[in-house]
Amino acid sequence: MQTVDLILAHATQLVTCACHNQPKRGAQMRELGLISDGALVVHDGRIVAVGKTGDLLGAYHAEQVVDLSGRVVLPGLVDCHTHVPHAGHRYDEFELRLQGKSYLDILKAGGGILNTVRATRSASATELMKQARKRLSTMLRWGTTTAELKSGYGLSTEAESKQLQAVFALDHAMTLIPTFLGAHAKPEEFASASDYLAYVLADSLPSVHALYQASDLPQQGIPMFVDIFVEEGTFTLEHMVAYFEQARQLGLPRKAHLDQFHHGGAVPVAVEMGATSVDHLEVTPPSDLDILARSETVGVMLPTVNLHLGNLHFANARHLVDADGILALATDYNPGSSPVLSLPFVMALACRVQRLLPSEALNACTVNAAHALGVLDRVGSLEVGKQADVVVLQTDDYRSLVVEMGNSLVEQVYLKGKPQWSASF
Ligand SMILES: [Zn+2]
Repeated sequence: MQTVDLILAHATQLVTCACHNQPKRGAQMRELGLISDGALVVHDGRIVAVGKTGDLLGAYHAEQVVDLSGRVVLPGLVDCHTHVPHAGHRYDEFELRLQGKSYLDILKAGGGILNTVRATRSASATELMKQARKRLSTMLRWGTTTAELKSGYGLSTEAESKQLQAVFALDHAMTLIPTFLGAHAKPEEFASASDYLAYVLADSLPSVHALYQASDLPQQGIPMFVDIFVEEGTFTLEHMVAYFEQARQLGLPRKAHLDQFHHGGAVPVAVEMGATSVDHLEVTPPSDLDILARSETVGVMLPTVNLHLGNLHFANARHLVDADGILALATDYNPGSSPVLSLPFVMALACRVQRLLPSEALNACTVNAAHALGVLDRVGSLEVGKQADVVVLQTDDYRSLVVEMGNSLVEQVYLKGKPQWSASF
């Protein structure tokens, strides 16, 4: 009989989100691969078997068996869009917005993203890492085990490199995916967005690509994405085309913030250029969502942004799912438009305002989010060969995760088979 490190046994519901390394579309979004009285067999940080407790307890000898009767076991959640590494806060702007100023007006007046840029530029890499670790700990307590971390608050080669190096050096047990968001906003020292983008293409992008190549991430199979904010007052569709073309030549996968406030027609172009994901989509019309749905590009929706900005028109997630598109959900954690670190809260909101079922929201924050980060081969579901990143809930029905809004049901989190957080710590 094979000896293994750990068996998590007798889960009332073992939600595998089994996907066979494929993202989920349409009706597949409702499939959770749920096993009652389920067990997970773990060795060397990986899943070696998944099935009924009765079948697996007799087939393996385990160093440790954990009885999870009355509990739900889920794959670790995947947050595929965050701006975690930054300094400073934007509490003043929160009050300005409550008094009637818009997000884009504040940005135009030199606040918003540019406020966080000033704070991030003046912080040391050590300080950025310290603050990022604190946010990651909170995310972990809410069940997130894999996260994307964007730069974009440096807006100079030196400061963007500092942000990305802080991410590379975090050495956290969570799986972390870096994204270079050099084209986030035009910094004050450049006369135009075109001038700044020319500098990004000539200097920042080659420099951060070299940093990534020199890190151990390529060897670990961890990608680095590039991202651009296409919006009135930031960057244009033509800027995106030039940026994506250079990223493609460097072999870097692409993402874009699109259609957040104004419909710019960039979704079909990003899809055509092979973007891994297009994110936001608050004002994307159904005709563009249909083009997205027929593609391999993931649509990432971020409902807490509009909630926080006080705009109750949400991205049309129902249309994308019903048209067989690949939907993921994420927090878009950032200090200005979504200071939210909890994916269960995002799912709870998406079910209420975007009419998703709990099963659809869960697949959107596991399988499809992992696909949006290019790491579905290692995380996003509980299947043989994947990392044993596991969340244990204090409930016997997975739907309570989204029904009991704002209430954390996470009891334990395992990263690569090791207990990393517990409500009883
Ligand atoms: Zn964002």
